[in-house]
Amino acid sequence: MTTVRKQIIELLEQEECDARMISQRLGIREKEAYDHIPHIIRSISAMGKKLTLTAAQCMSCGYIFRSREKVFKPGRCPACKKERIEPPRFKITSRTS
Ligand SMILES: [Zn+2]
Repeated sequence: MTTVRKQIIELLEQEECDARMISQRLGIREKEAYDHIPHIIRSISAMGKKLTLTAAQCMSCGYIFRSREKVFKPGRCPACKKERIEPPRFKITSRTS
């Protein structure tokens, strides 16, 4: 596992963050933070932990992007077609808790 991935995991174990917060804390690009997420899901699964995803939400109409597969920030809202989307947030918790 890369150092950056370990740092993201440690950060998300302590607080819920969106990709922008991760990028600011660790000095990486926002897209890079998103790129790490699928790998992190696999890594922490082996550690008995899980990633909790707070779904992205449209700031214009309140539409919630419910698909669990949508870890990436959606480009636009399917309901109102606007592009003011609050990005998904991530948190790592113990699987048993
Ligand atoms: Zn909307």
